[in-house]
Amino acid sequence: MRNKTFITKKMLLFVLCMSLCMAQFILLPAVNVYADEDNDDDDKDNDDDDKEDNEDRSSSESDSSSEIEDIKRQIEESKSAKEKANQTKSQLASGMASVQQIIGSLQTEKNNVVTYVATLDAAMEQIQDDLDAVNESISENEAQIEEAKLSVEKAEEAIDKAEKALEAAEKVRQDGYENIKDQVKFMYLASKSTFLEILVTSESVSDLLNRTHYISKIMDYDKQKLEEYAEVVKEADEAKQKLEDNKLILEEKQKQLEERQEQLEEKQAEAQGKKNDMSDLINAKEAEIGQYNAAIGTKEQQVKEYQAMIAQQDAEIAAIEQAIRSQQAALAEASRRVYGGGQFVWPAPKYTRISDDYGMRTHPTLGVQMMHNGIDMAAPSGSPILAAADGTVIAASYSSSMGNYIMIDHGSDIITVYMHASSLSVSAGQEVSAGDRIGSVGSTGRSTGPHLHFGVRKNGAYVNPWTYLK
Ligand SMILES: [Zn+2]
Repeated sequence: MRNKTFITKKMLLFVLCMSLCMAQFILLPAVNVYADEDNDDDDKDNDDDDKEDNEDRSSSESDSSSEIEDIKRQIEESKSAKEKANQTKSQLASGMASVQQIIGSLQTEKNNVVTYVATLDAAMEQIQDDLDAVNESISENEAQIEEAKLSVEKAEEAIDKAEKALEAAEKVRQDGYENIKDQVKFMYLASKSTFLEILVTSESVSDLLNRTHYISKIMDYDKQKLEEYAEVVKEADEAKQKLEDNKLILEEKQKQLEERQEQLEEKQAEAQGKKNDMSDLINAKEAEIGQYNAAIGTKEQQVKEYQAMIAQQDAEIAAIEQAIRSQQAALAEASRRVYGGGQFVWPAPKYTRISDDYGMRTHPTLGVQMMHNGIDMAAPSGSPILAAADGTVIAASYSSSMGNYIMIDHGSDIITVYMHASSLSVSAGQEVSAGDRIGSVGSTGRSTGPHLHFGVRKNGAYVNPWTYLK
């Protein structure tokens, strides 16, 4: 009774496993897509390789490993060259940065000088204004001096005239005086005879009186004349004196103007001196600006050179990177695993009972011929799953039919497949060695109980795993 139940259970397990394997059959095209990635030419090559491997395996392996080592060495050299190029680039960049810093400080210094020149220009304008004002004053003063000189000349002319007038008056007075003097002298001389004569010859006292009155009148007239002459001379003299006084005043004014002229000329010389100094200073500063511009120009040329060198370095780095990519591609090509051959490690250690073998089976319920593409190894849940050979994990994932599954590429287009794991201990891309634990037996996916489904694919199709296990 108990035995019967066991058999029934076993049957059920078989049926389920068959259905699972059918599911895998349906899945197969999907797996083939992966396998198809390796093209037919490669397959052919690999076949040839396999032949060679069989004939001279150790030689081929050592050739391949020496080629890989060579490429690896080339990659290291390229990386070191790239590192050097990067160092050179950063040295250039730092050199350029310091030149740019120098340019910055040159610009600052230049700007300071430019600002200073602007203040000098303003000062220069002030000096020029002062100088213009002094020059204007000098012009005005010169005009005044000319005017004063003219006035003095006029005064001199007037004095000359006055002198002549005075001389003339003096002459008239002198002449008049001489005339009267002669008249008086004559009358005096005459009086000795004529006066008596007048007395005696006078017809009457009245006549006499008239005659003496007449004489007296003549004398009065002369006296008046004399006084008048004296008055004219005095006036002429006074006029001359006034003119001379006036001339002195004019000369004093001229002298003052000339003194002022001297002062103005001193000021002018001072302002001109200041202007010359300022002009020299501005010229010197502008020369300095020119030097700064030249230095900045030189430094900017240097920056351009640095930029060109950095660009060259960038091109060099890009070329090295391209070379590294090519070398890495070559390495990947050279590193393509070649299956070393030999027997696989039993993937479910200690559990050798086969619950379902590889091969065609009649589906128990559907009644159709179906392929079981692997070997089902009955093993308890949690027991280790080992990598059958050295290789690269190309899948460590989950699917509803395969459960947790692992695929390992062993090279030469040989791939092993492990299904229904309770857990996975590797991930895609990982390198594994034969006998490494890659997961634990379980019953995930379409599985009726804990077991390891182990399959082998060669050139994109499932093959009999026993070829590799015996
Ligand atoms: Zn199976």
